[in-house]
Amino acid sequence: MLNKTLAGLAKGLQQGEFSSVELAQAYLQRIKNEDSKYNSFITVTEELALQQAAAADASRAAGNAGIMTGLPIAHKDIFCTQGVRTSAGSKMLDNFISPYDATVIRKFNAAGSVTLGKTNMDEFAMGSSNESSFYGPSRNPWNTQHVPGGSSGGSAAAIAAGLAPAATGTDTGGSIRQPAAFCNLTGLKPTYGRVSRYGMIAYASSLDQGGPMAQTAEDAAMMLNVMAGMDPLDSTSVDRAVPDYTSNLNAPLAGLKIGLPKEFFSASLNPDIAALVHAAVKEYEALGATVKEVSLPNTALSVPAYYIVAPAEASSNLSRFDGVRYGYRCKDPTDLEDMYKRTRGEGFGTEVKRRIMVGTYALSEGFYDAYYKKAQQIRRLIQQDFVRVLSEVDVIMGPTTPTPAFRLGEKTSDPVEMYMEDIFTLSLNLAGLPGMSIPCGMSNGLPVGLQVIGNYFAEEKLLNVAHKFQQATDWHTLKPAGL
Ligand code: GLN
Repeated sequence: MLNKTLAGLAKGLQQGEFSSVELAQAYLQRIKNEDSKYNSFITVTEELALQQAAAADASRAAGNAGIMTGLPIAHKDIFCTQGVRTSAGSKMLDNFISPYDATVIRKFNAAGSVTLGKTNMDEFAMGSSNESSFYGPSRNPWNTQHVPGGSSGGSAAAIAAGLAPAATGTDTGGSIRQPAAFCNLTGLKPTYGRVSRYGMIAYASSLDQGGPMAQTAEDAAMMLNVMAGMDPLDSTSVDRAVPDYTSNLNAPLAGLKIGLPKEFFSASLNPDIAALVHAAVKEYEALGATVKEVSLPNTALSVPAYYIVAPAEASSNLSRFDGVRYGYRCKDPTDLEDMYKRTRGEGFGTEVKRRIMVGTYALSEGFYDAYYKKAQQIRRLIQQDFVRVLSEVDVIMGPTTPTPAFRLGEKTSDPVEMYMEDIFTLSLNLAGLPGMSIPCGMSNGLPVGLQVIGNYFAEEKLLNVAHKFQQATDWHTLKPAGL
């Protein structure tokens, strides 16, 4: 019963091969037995899962089951979950029991899915390796000496280890796509505004976007059907019809125009990754696509621009954690200022403090024009590059990451080296565009991801492009040894 895709599990439930309760129990048992190796969950919601599973079985018996009814999902611990600790990977929120559900959680619950637990993540989603988590790093099931990627590393590790069939993630600068690439998964970062951010703990509000992480494009489409849509509680969510993302998966790709940005294939790209991405593009040509070289000339500027804009927004968003209203408060403060200082000094980790300092500096009088305003101008140039290229091609393809999963500790001493890992993913968030990572091969036993970028609200096209590739190849079906 385990090791199936969401679509496979949905079929098993429909045909009565197993019940939702049996399915939830099997996953909970596997988490208990195996997760000490991966540290992929911060909280396992056993009681909630069994209660939801029993309700799912009851609604199936009453003839009310939908496609998601009884399907187990793990949620990144950034989505507020009523009655459950929601930590964002931080000591600051270690004691925070959310009094309400994020819209994404509410929608999965309404669709009848079963919450297995809350997954590990970089603190406040700041990181590319899951190593900034207060709960310790999560580990890559393909090689536990390596990182699973970040910030949605726990979601990726849980799926790759078979501890959850699918999971939610969030992507501010690559946090769905990069861990998907590192763990051989299919991850989709939707267009900014496609998925509600309500109840998703804010990192950088103009960049943050929730999305699915799954074993296949078909599963990601099933999840996006649940997640997408306008939400009156999120003023940046977009009022636009939600198609059935599963209905166009098999559309033929004849005539698909693919652009390959020359800046994505520079000398710093790992040669195995370059070769595998080119092989994947060949596969698309065999499926009827045409390919041309394009240029995104401001690609190199995405790292410096992002690492001003994101910390600037973070410094503002994280000012709410002051020990007054909720979350961590230092012991025995002598006065208000002492409480602020020690609460934030003790509650935040190193990377979060670094971002708050950079962001506060960039927004301060006298530096604002030189840093924040400049970064916003570069952001516009990056967006214009994409708009121009996407008027000539249907999708842009390239690597998701410059290297496969690196070793734990390999990049922690040099933040800039860690930030360079995001070179191919950040620009989409700056532009608000959707993108996917899909498995396209292996390098020394570690997975490699192909990134597919589409125009605004082209999620349906991206899922179609990913699904056709998965019909023609079986990279996405590979599992870590022993699983
Ligand atoms: N690695 C990037 C950062 O640290 C992106 C993280 C994310 O997408 N949440 O900011």
